[in-house]
Amino acid sequence: MTWFTEALYADPSHEGYAQTFYVSRELVRRRTDFQELVIFETPHHGRVLALDGVIQATEKDEFVYHEMLAHVPLFALGSAKRVLIVGGGDGGILREVLRHPVEQVRLVEIDGAVVELCREHLPFLSAGAFDDPRARVIIGDGIRFVAESMETFDLIVVDSTDPAGPGEGLFTEAFYGDCKKRLAPGGLVVTQNGVPHFQPQELARSGRRLKPHFADVGCYLAVVPTYVGGFMALGWATDDVGLRRLTEADLAPRFARAGFETRYYSPAVHAAAFALPPFIAALL
Ligand code: SAM
Repeated sequence: MTWFTEALYADPSHEGYAQTFYVSRELVRRRTDFQELVIFETPHHGRVLALDGVIQATEKDEFVYHEMLAHVPLFALGSAKRVLIVGGGDGGILREVLRHPVEQVRLVEIDGAVVELCREHLPFLSAGAFDDPRARVIIGDGIRFVAESMETFDLIVVDSTDPAGPGEGLFTEAFYGDCKKRLAPGGLVVTQNGVPHFQPQELARSGRRLKPHFADVGCYLAVVPTYVGGFMALGWATDDVGLRRLTEADLAPRFARAGFETRYYSPAVHAAAFALPPFIAALL
């Protein structure tokens, strides 16, 4: 394989547009029980993970997505102790969540091969997080977990694939309603919600399906170059309307107390991430 061309997104409106990577070495290609998994090396983006032809993470810019999907909710909440990650089998979100003084993290990943092969070929993503005594990895369907578990969480991070294949059910109202049942009072759900430039209806649909269950539904933005199309939308749902209104001044002492370095997240970026251009705000 000399070139990898990213398959069209689940949304057919993506027709006729793709991104292509030069492949210096293919490390693994496997048809798992759930999806086609490929990990390959590139000259400019380092190692890359793709599932069913869609880019999931690249060594060069994974820090953007994983920092923003973990630190914005955790610094907003300020004292989250119990976190659920749905999906996230590559370990990037788990790595960032564990930098906070959380007590327990459950990671529910449907495809054990993702965890196994990312630990082997993309160890920088989890960076030892899977061995942290606070982390518990459950190989199973996140839909079933939130429907059947009796546990409650301060934060639920839905780090899913796009709404196709095993990830499709993670964008339904039933799933969002079950997430609400799993949340402690004042808790927060954040979601991977696509690139509005190409997948506007994905964000609009999630907004419609979250609103019956949460008082405050919105999104915040990050620019992840290899999630092609400009801004990436990260869904936000909570009953605590104040969480979204924290200012840089509110967040700066929390970030300073945390005492760790980041490459994309900062209190200023956190506050600015909720400033939505009208074409995105209109979707919610
Ligand atoms: N950062 C990536 C993105 O933004 O597209 C997502 C990373 S992670 C690799 C996505 C994970 O969601 C995959 O490992 C996939 O197996 C998992 N997944 C999809 N559907 C799931 C489900 N119903 N329950 C649990 N995990 C699921």
